[in-house]
Amino acid sequence: RARDPHQAEFLQAVEEVLRSLTPVLDKHPEYLPVVERLVEPERVVQFRVAWLDDAGVQQVNRGFRVQFNQALGPYKGGLRFHPSVTLSIIKFLGFEQILKNSLTTLAMGGAKGGSDFDPRGKSDNEVMKFCQSFMTELFRHIGPDTDVPAGDINVGGREIGFLFGQYKRLTVHYEGVLTGKALQWGGSLLRPEATGYGLVYYAQEVLRGMGKDLKGMRCLVSGSGNVAQYTVEKLLHLGALPVTLSDSSGYIYEKDGFTPDRLQHVLDLKQKKRARISEYTKKFNTAVYVDGAKPWAVDSAVVAFPCATQNEVTEADAQRLVDAGVKYVFEGANMPSTAEAIAVYLRAGVVYGPAKAANAGGVAVSGLEMAQNSQRFPWSKEEVDDKLQGIMRSIYTESMAAAQEYGMAATDPGALQAGANIAGFVKVAEAMLSQGCV
Ligand code: NDP
Repeated sequence: RARDPHQAEFLQAVEEVLRSLTPVLDKHPEYLPVVERLVEPERVVQFRVAWLDDAGVQQVNRGFRVQFNQALGPYKGGLRFHPSVTLSIIKFLGFEQILKNSLTTLAMGGAKGGSDFDPRGKSDNEVMKFCQSFMTELFRHIGPDTDVPAGDINVGGREIGFLFGQYKRLTVHYEGVLTGKALQWGGSLLRPEATGYGLVYYAQEVLRGMGKDLKGMRCLVSGSGNVAQYTVEKLLHLGALPVTLSDSSGYIYEKDGFTPDRLQHVLDLKQKKRARISEYTKKFNTAVYVDGAKPWAVDSAVVAFPCATQNEVTEADAQRLVDAGVKYVFEGANMPSTAEAIAVYLRAGVVYGPAKAANAGGVAVSGLEMAQNSQRFPWSKEEVDDKLQGIMRSIYTESMAAAQEYGMAATDPGALQAGANIAGFVKVAEAMLSQGCV
């Protein structure tokens, strides 16, 4: 706190983890020096990104790459382009990424990067110019065995393509330095779907462990980007009833649930036209659009999947969810619930599936994309899906086992949170200790 007094999001993420680690540190005081090191990034790169807009005017943004921890493998974590990006945001995301990547069981360290660049309203040409300038600095710090960035908010296939093209021009290396690439030039089948599908697989495992099933359950989903879209798709595959989607302007509510046709319209609006979610009701008047509000106001749902951004569920939102009858929260976005919101869930007995476990499917398939790039051989959709399901299952079982080892009952609504923090941490701690705790 004294060192980073202004990094509110980073401190929030660290405090949440440290609270879970108390019983582990009591039992294993040898991990204390690890904790001191774990909260310090191994390297922080901040740089100027200058680019020319379509009017020929020089623009300047700030670029970041925080290489947090390399104990388990090359640094790995996404790039976010959003005006809200600060060092605190990138550090919280990078810190979370260490434990998330550890939970996947794949060899990946933790990192995150991005820029305060706002792609909204920018032409393709401007986005390309920005990406090229961003990579002109970033390329010195990354590599297939060093650091392998991916996408995150506002960084999808288009941006990964521009970034990869510039990396290749600068290095003359055609290699797996980024994940989330298009299929034709080194991407993995199911990478676009992986975070949303993985989230639903994780939810299904948790529910199965309690003798329940997603089928027929009404679900609230926030966001309408990559994670939200494929969460809804997988919920539909499993017979659940997703009823909301949103963006930063408002939400849409389909009382009787989305259907494959309706979801396809969302995908067209968001992926092809980059339109606002409010446009949806122009085609489907079965839905209502509520401006300036979040989907948590909707009554009669059992499961909530926050899939937009950090701190989108406040204490008051969480109370509304509880009052409306929500019994399970599974986080698709990173740190979408404030500390106060989590306290509300746990007091009310809401089962809480935390982001670092629930949304690890995206980075897991990024890890599988790296494996395919190394082999220079693509895997089938079934193979990737099978591995993704296996990884989400093992995240659930490892989290539960860790929580129980440290004295929590499987029925404790906070078991998944504590278990994910403990299981993710212990693996990193052991690796750091055996590498000399540097
Ligand atoms: P996208 O850019 O595809 O979509 C983001 C969505 O969230 C949009 O609907 C956007 O609305 C909304 N959103 C963004 N900022 C805000 C805000 N301040 N308030 C309200 N809504 C907002 O991003 P992703 O779907 O990829 O990412 C969503 C979340 O999931 C992030 O927390 C990300 O870190 C996390 N995540 C993503 C992974 C991935 O593989 N993509 C992997 C693991 C986690 P608008 O268009 O109005 O901005």
